[in-house]
Amino acid sequence: MNEEAFLPWYTRRPKLLFGCFLVVFCAVNAWIFYYEYQFVQREAAERTAVAVDEARPEAVSFWENDGSFTLLGDAKPGEWRARFAEHKQSFEDWVEGPRQHPSEGRKTIYLQPIGSFEDSGLDLGKLAAFAEMYFRMPVAVRAPIDPAELEFRRRKNPHFGQEQWLTEDLLSELYDRLPDDAYAMLGLTMTDLWPGDRWNYVFGQATFSERVGVYSFGRYDPTSRLSHAAPYGLDRRKTMMLRAMKILTHETGHMFGIRHCLHYECNMNGTNSLRELDEQPLHLCPVDLRKLHAATGFDPAARYHDLAGFYERRGLHEQARFARRRSRLGQERSSR
Ligand SMILES: [Zn+2]
Ligand SMILES: [Zn+2]
Repeated sequence: MNEEAFLPWYTRRPKLLFGCFLVVFCAVNAWIFYYEYQFVQREAAERTAVAVDEARPEAVSFWENDGSFTLLGDAKPGEWRARFAEHKQSFEDWVEGPRQHPSEGRKTIYLQPIGSFEDSGLDLGKLAAFAEMYFRMPVAVRAPIDPAELEFRRRKNPHFGQEQWLTEDLLSELYDRLPDDAYAMLGLTMTDLWPGDRWNYVFGQATFSERVGVYSFGRYDPTSRLSHAAPYGLDRRKTMMLRAMKILTHETGHMFGIRHCLHYECNMNGTNSLRELDEQPLHLCPVDLRKLHAATGFDPAARYHDLAGFYERRGLHEQARFARRRSRLGQERSSR
């Protein structure tokens, strides 16, 4: 009889024993590594959340897409994104980038009418009230300037014959009149603008380092022969107001260092035509809202609440529904 038959299997099969040991050793190590990795990840996530929460406890979830925002699709021919290749600006890019900082002594946005707005259908006082809710900064309308008091070049458009004013000259005139407490001053006119010889026209132009811009609302009038694509049929007042609200907030957004948005359908999307402007939303996407919040500081739920009320009073139902839904995000958070 073979004596080995009475010995334990591990004495007879040392290689098998070593193999089993190796398998168990590896499994235990893998489990320890996985557990530690999970722990480190959880700890890092909690640290980040705490840091953000401590900075603005009420604001965290407003920087996320709660399903209210639509990712940008492919650009159609002729649209801004089809013509210009731009860099997608993340929140972190924005923090590193150049911008104008509001300060205690320099925090008012001035709207400076140049020429008359009497027949425009636009209420500049209401536009300023809206901008104040949007940016959470003081916005004031200055007394209109008579264009005859300013020195600037003007021309008849060579193709259509309408009067046009040169933006470069108007910007320099505005800069000379910039109030000491101005965060920025936006010149507004109903007369068409052009930026230089090779151009037919321009909607507006700004120099962000000098904090002045000039914009013409003349082409936003759906009854004008220079306009088209009215989103509310021929409801002139509503169309004018909505277009002016979009352009004012978009251009001021650039003063805050917010570049054209490539994240979502957003007020900071680049626009190459009135049609694109009409299609883009008035609201900021979560990425750009976070930038504005970091620049001016506000309670996002209160901002949406105020905007919803304004939109409801102006009959801007789509915008009102959106703002109302987002304002409730704050209530849901605080009731959790
Ligand atoms: Zn722009
Ligand atoms: Zn955006």
